[in-house]
Amino acid sequence: MGTIEEFNSHVMGTYGRYDLVIDKGEGDFATDENGKRYIDFGSGIGTNSLGYADKDWADAVCKQARTVQHTSNYYYTKVQSDFATKLAGLTGMQKMFFGNSGAEANECAIKLARKYSFDKYGRGRHNIITLINSFHGRTLATLSATGQEVFHNYFFPFVEGFIYAEANNADDLKAKLDDTVCAVMIEYIQGEGGVVPLNKEYVDELYELCAQRDILVITDEVQTGVGRTGKFLAGQYYGHTPDIVTLAKGIAGGIPMGVCLAGEKCADTLTPGTHGSTFGGNPIACAGGLAVLKKAGDKEFLNDVVEKGAYIKQKLLKIPEVELVTGMGLMIGIKLKTKNAADVVKAALIEGVMMLTAKEKIRLLPPLNITYEEIDKGLKILERLLSE
Ligand SMILES: *Cc1c(COP(=O)(O)O)cnc(C)c1O
Repeated sequence: MGTIEEFNSHVMGTYGRYDLVIDKGEGDFATDENGKRYIDFGSGIGTNSLGYADKDWADAVCKQARTVQHTSNYYYTKVQSDFATKLAGLTGMQKMFFGNSGAEANECAIKLARKYSFDKYGRGRHNIITLINSFHGRTLATLSATGQEVFHNYFFPFVEGFIYAEANNADDLKAKLDDTVCAVMIEYIQGEGGVVPLNKEYVDELYELCAQRDILVITDEVQTGVGRTGKFLAGQYYGHTPDIVTLAKGIAGGIPMGVCLAGEKCADTLTPGTHGSTFGGNPIACAGGLAVLKKAGDKEFLNDVVEKGAYIKQKLLKIPEVELVTGMGLMIGIKLKTKNAADVVKAALIEGVMMLTAKEKIRLLPPLNITYEEIDKGLKILERLLSE
């Protein structure tokens, strides 16, 4: 039996997978079972922020695996401390909680916001406003938080306490910010929702409305964070400091990690026994994460992300079939005029380029350290497919 057949008889069919078995990778390329190479314009799914098997990252991970691979969170480790210190410095946040995924980071944010409000105001102020077309994860609470009706099916009852507001509509937000609300959760650029950024004016007003009412602002930077947009956090483009930030995807270069970071207001809200995770802050994940931060936290590295993003964008805009390019840095959405994005992505895979879709768009999340040579190679193939 071939790998795919065997796989499908034993692994649940929760993903629409392509017929491709990844065997190894190096830098910007993945290689399949037959030795065919693919330029990975998706970094896995925004996870392999330094590409495949980056030398410094792999050395750090291997070294950690040979020393302490895991220990209980009843003890301290230096690598977790070093990682937390570095991440706090890069984000300006005070304290953080470690989980293992974006959904877990958001679960923590939801619990944290509710407890902050409970401690200060008592019961009844538990609602969290999220935006229509958002995506916050697959656990019951984060699915409930996700502002897309298609996700609210089968698994009834969903978690109470989420109110959906229209993105970029301050009036709608204002009307919904009553005294039952403890937090507003946003993605600066809706990723799964189609690489759709929030307007600056809307974000300005959102922060002001929340500040007036002691309502926490949670920014889900699971996809936009860790240098993806050319700043360490996408929020740094907007110039506001949120109360809570969540990170995951690229944070540890492809090792599972989710982080919920809190600012001054709610840094000490979660106390012993109120939250936990067996694997959260795992030393190997922290070692990988530290290797990522050493590169992605560097100003020149981030400037390169901006320049590469602009380079890709101007090349894309020269293709007649491309209607619109959205996003920032190396988080790129491509709206096509006539072709179907999913069909193009499928065809590109056969030609040796891995890309993602988001709603009706093609989505690119290339490794943050992708080379111009490989950008050119991949775009050439995409351009050909879009010109056929
Ligand atoms: C991917 C994603 C999540 C969920 O992350 P998981 O690691 O799959 O749980 C949450 N929020 C945003 C914005 C995401 O892009």
